[in-house]
Amino acid sequence: MVFIGHVDAGKSTCSGQVLFLTGMVNERLIEKYSKEASDKKHASWFLAYIMDALEEERAKGKTVEVGRAHFNTDTKRYTILDAPGHRNYVPNMIMGVAQADIGILIISARKGEFEAGFEKSGQTREHALLARTLGVRTLIVAINKMDDTTVNWDKKRYDEIVDKLNIFLAQAGYNIKKDLIYLPIAGLAGINIKNRLDSSVCNWYSGESLIGTLDALPALQRNETGPLRIPVLDKFKDMGVIAMGKVEQGVIARGQSYVIMPGSLPCEVVKIENDEKSLKRARAGENVNITLKGIDESAFHRGYVICDPLSPVKVVTEFVAQLMLMELPSEKVLFTASSTAVLHVHTAVCDVEVVIILAEIDKKTGQIAKKLPKFVKSRSVINVHFRVPVPICLEVFKDSPQLGRFTLRDEALTIGFGKVLRLGPPKKKGEN
Ligand code: GDP
Repeated sequence: MVFIGHVDAGKSTCSGQVLFLTGMVNERLIEKYSKEASDKKHASWFLAYIMDALEEERAKGKTVEVGRAHFNTDTKRYTILDAPGHRNYVPNMIMGVAQADIGILIISARKGEFEAGFEKSGQTREHALLARTLGVRTLIVAINKMDDTTVNWDKKRYDEIVDKLNIFLAQAGYNIKKDLIYLPIAGLAGINIKNRLDSSVCNWYSGESLIGTLDALPALQRNETGPLRIPVLDKFKDMGVIAMGKVEQGVIARGQSYVIMPGSLPCEVVKIENDEKSLKRARAGENVNITLKGIDESAFHRGYVICDPLSPVKVVTEFVAQLMLMELPSEKVLFTASSTAVLHVHTAVCDVEVVIILAEIDKKTGQIAKKLPKFVKSRSVINVHFRVPVPICLEVFKDSPQLGRFTLRDEALTIGFGKVLRLGPPKKKGEN
């Protein structure tokens, strides 16, 4: 899962509380660290302190990896990706969201803060859109800071926020009834995080707590039978070459040989670890550290994909995709042939150029518009022939959604979302 939302909404505080309340950090350490944090008037460093505390405990067997944390409940095992607040937090949260199944959107209910997070430049909109396009299936919307003096667990304020978010999230493609779960919380005080909300605090909410909500979600369907795909998130050296990533498809097994694409680099898996445990096999959905033999650390990078050698991922420099444009930067309001952007697809990031716009889709009918546009503006839906300067690993969206959907960014702005329709250049006339 991944915590998303506007800066200062309470992401770090809430993810820290979740780790604390599920017993990932011992009480004595947490006291020490939270006291230090509040002494310094930086209560928001809470999680950073917790993560450091966890790192200190690593030597004793408890594990937290760079920016990633794990916790368990009675029924499930969870990974928090790219835990916010940690000093190794990747500020560009696309990577975390691209791998997450569940997003927790933290919204501040404090007067003025909800409004700020929701303005045009606020991150609430962008994060929610990103999450939708990158494949987060369920969005839990936690309305935080309900204990703030400007809110005081006021049901009217909560309802106002839910109503506004519903309208927006429906526009972003979420099914209000199926994909969204709302709940009120107070992250800093840990209220409605693990234990259910006490009626003496709030008498109008009787649903599950945040962790209760997570536990109640149905198990996710994953593709375990397809050929192995693990997009590499990071790599490092620690008694061998270690690759970090999420098994997006298939199963990886210790002792087996695989290839890393592009380049068909052979390697053998000598160790698989998740959390603090060593595993024989890891299935789709697992976040793992894999120790590899037979490959040099400098031979591969983030964005490469560990694959089944008999059926490796496709590697291309050209592809056709359907693209939904968002707001374009004010100095580049026209999107056309030779427009450039930065492509984010699974864990890969690279420059991308429009070769040609192939068609415009009528948003009302979903049909291809008769006239072929030379250029389009914000909010258009188009089919585009793209080219990248270096070969990248890619799949057609309908075959492998995790490796076939992408985000286009330009100067820190998300300008579009797409899905890959075809690998290679577009069909020529007369071709099947
Ligand atoms: P992030 O930027 O989203 O990670 O937000 P932080 O977790 O750093 O929190 C931002 C600020 O909001 C900090 O000063 C927190 O102490 C405060 N905060 C977080 N949760 C709550 C809450 O439940 N109630 C109140 N009143 N303040 C909170």
